[in-house]
Amino acid sequence: MNSRVFHPESLMMTYGYKPELSEGAIKCPIFQTSTFVFKSAEEGKAFFEVAYGQREKEPNEELGLIYSRLNNPDLQILEERLCLWDEADECAVFESGMSAISTVMLEFLRPGDIMLYSKPVYGGTDHFINKVLPQYGIKGIGFTSEQTKEELLSLVEKQKENVKLIYVETPANPTNALFDLELCREVADALSTDDQEVVVCVDNTYMGPLWQHPLKHGADLVVYSATKYIGGHSDLIAGAVLGRSKYMTRVRTLRTFLGNMAGPWTGWLLMRSLETLKVRMTQQASNTIEVAKFLESHPKVEKVYYLGNLTPGSRQHDIFKKQLYSAGAMISFDIKGGEKEAFKFLNSLKLMKLAVSLGSTESLAEHPATMTHSDVSAEDRQLLGISEKLVRLSIGVEHYQDIIWDIDQALENV
Ligand SMILES: *Cc1c(COP(=O)(O)O)cnc(C)c1O
Repeated sequence: MNSRVFHPESLMMTYGYKPELSEGAIKCPIFQTSTFVFKSAEEGKAFFEVAYGQREKEPNEELGLIYSRLNNPDLQILEERLCLWDEADECAVFESGMSAISTVMLEFLRPGDIMLYSKPVYGGTDHFINKVLPQYGIKGIGFTSEQTKEELLSLVEKQKENVKLIYVETPANPTNALFDLELCREVADALSTDDQEVVVCVDNTYMGPLWQHPLKHGADLVVYSATKYIGGHSDLIAGAVLGRSKYMTRVRTLRTFLGNMAGPWTGWLLMRSLETLKVRMTQQASNTIEVAKFLESHPKVEKVYYLGNLTPGSRQHDIFKKQLYSAGAMISFDIKGGEKEAFKFLNSLKLMKLAVSLGSTESLAEHPATMTHSDVSAEDRQLLGISEKLVRLSIGVEHYQDIIWDIDQALENV
């Protein structure tokens, strides 16, 4: 009875922080400092040996504070807290989701390499894969949620040994299509050789860190746009990578030399956000159940894309049961008509805001075809169901009856 493993939400206020090192302050202060004073030259030498990988850490030796591009208490404590949700060995926080994603791709891909990636991915990720990486001789090959293991393997049949990374975003934005992570792991294993492991990386922004834990389904790395649920207040931009130590050492090292870590102020804001992560996300998901029910029965709505109403027995439903703890708080729908009707709806909202981004306390609405996904080719948009009549909603923490009232009156205006 005298020890207990606390739930992550119970640890978000205190874990990893020692008040006695900060004048007893109950909250971790903002360590707005570029560098840290060593007690002695010997200590400085020892810190550098570990930081630059010249020797392993001794048992119980903590990585000493050196310089804020390498480490800073606001980032280090935040990283330890983030690890708890995904049960990751290590975490590194970045100045944006895109810097987390691009750093992983740059670390695990070299000229001549191939990356298999799920389609659709976030617009910025799509741009990086299709416009930036080809300049370095790296090729991305996309696959959809309907494809089987055999089909994925046949996509790279003649160049198997060049595949180094499988990158998956699930659920897909904005259609909520689910990708089977165990299938991705099997494909990675089939393509791995004794001296070359194919790494599986999952963008868990839509569901994490509460509702999906990709590391438990075979992923090696998880990436987040912490701008979304983790930050949760639409007041910061940040990213994170989590995973096994073996891979995280590489990610962290490249971060040190690209210098794209988050600053202490962002780290502090994210710690503030983590304290309410579970209550926010839980409320958002429960509001979304009510919004989905309302949309399902509305005569001006043609189709609803929501993980809570997948058909039992379907492959998508099987993946849902295996991989997710919640249907989440993202919901899209096809309005009857086209762009004109969708715009009329968006322009008529009174409580919800017309803005891209997601996962925040306030509800947001947007038009993927002309906004977040306007960069996706017309062909791919059609293939993936991103039409002119599609509207995407991110449900916040307002009273659900007010959200429904707003959607109702905006639909009334169409
Ligand atoms: C927003 C987002 C990103 C990019 O994150 P930033 O913090 O804006 O750089 C990546 N993936 C997904 C799924 C996102 O929603």
